[in-house]
Amino acid sequence: MALISVIVPCYNEQESIPLFYNEITRVSDEMENKYEDLTFEYIFINDGSSDNTLNILRGMNALDKRVRYISFSRNFGKEAAMYAGLQNARGDYVVILDADLQHPPKLIPQMYEYVKSGEYDCAATRRISRKGEPKVISFFSGCFYKVINSISQTKIVDGAQDFRFMTRQMVDAILSLKEYNRFSKGIFSWVGFETKYIEVENTERAAGKSTWNFTKLLRYSLEGIFEFSTVPLEVASVLGIIFCFIALIMMVGTIIKTLVFGEKVSGYPTIICVVTLMGGLQLLCTGLIGQYLSKMYLEAKGRPIYIIKETEPQQDGTEK
Ligand code: UDP
Ligand code: MG
Repeated sequence: MALISVIVPCYNEQESIPLFYNEITRVSDEMENKYEDLTFEYIFINDGSSDNTLNILRGMNALDKRVRYISFSRNFGKEAAMYAGLQNARGDYVVILDADLQHPPKLIPQMYEYVKSGEYDCAATRRISRKGEPKVISFFSGCFYKVINSISQTKIVDGAQDFRFMTRQMVDAILSLKEYNRFSKGIFSWVGFETKYIEVENTERAAGKSTWNFTKLLRYSLEGIFEFSTVPLEVASVLGIIFCFIALIMMVGTIIKTLVFGEKVSGYPTIICVVTLMGGLQLLCTGLIGQYLSKMYLEAKGRPIYIIKETEPQQDGTEK
């Protein structure tokens, strides 16, 4: 027997969950019929929703024992929800997907085939079009992938989504990365293993609305850069060296000029420009160091990534 754990992070998804449930049960029933040794569990993570999400999950659990849920004490973010799901999954295979049907469950059988064949440890989707997305966001996303891939040693695949079907071995590897500041796109790639990318078109949300906006995406991109690259820190040192060198040449030049031509009071504008430039650069570099320091500060605290308030009632004797 093989168990597939389906992990679904949910934040205010009361409209989407019933639609999602219909679709996932349809797909898993089909798979259970086709491959006789397969069973499923669905783990919904309620990431501090303020709507009726938790009640819907409780109701679903009462009717269908395959449905498990973990409810956080507040909103911890999708990264934390995915981590909680992975930690609590009992399956031999684990698949993560969004509740809003933007990650169509009908792709799961295909993903299962790829992974079961043994050729791949993971199957993921990669969107090849950004249809329906604001042009500015697409432009900056493109820039982000260029920047991060040129300065980070971990390859971040453009358009790769969090919709992933993985083996237990890969899940355990991901769980061994216990960092507090989690950037899954990087972590999935960092742990290695063979990944098959299935190319998909962008799908619109089934219901409800996305919690992402431009500022959140920008912060998320910077997060990715600071988590997976230390090049910005090196930039700071390189800039420092270049400007020390320029300053040295200017000093020597000024001394020679004064000795040869004597001293004249001039050059205030130049001084102001140089002082401003240097001040700006110093602040920029201190800021960069600050970014890393703040990440270290959070890591050093060793806080839990999420806090559970409620889970599905324990069923006796069904522990795997
Ligand atoms: N999500 C979550 N916590 C959050 C934000 C989102 O668990 O703080 C879930 C959300 O319910 C959905 C998935 O993460 O299942 C993707 O979120 P969303 O659809 O808002 O993002 P997008 O698809 O626009 O990238
Ligand atoms: Mg979505």
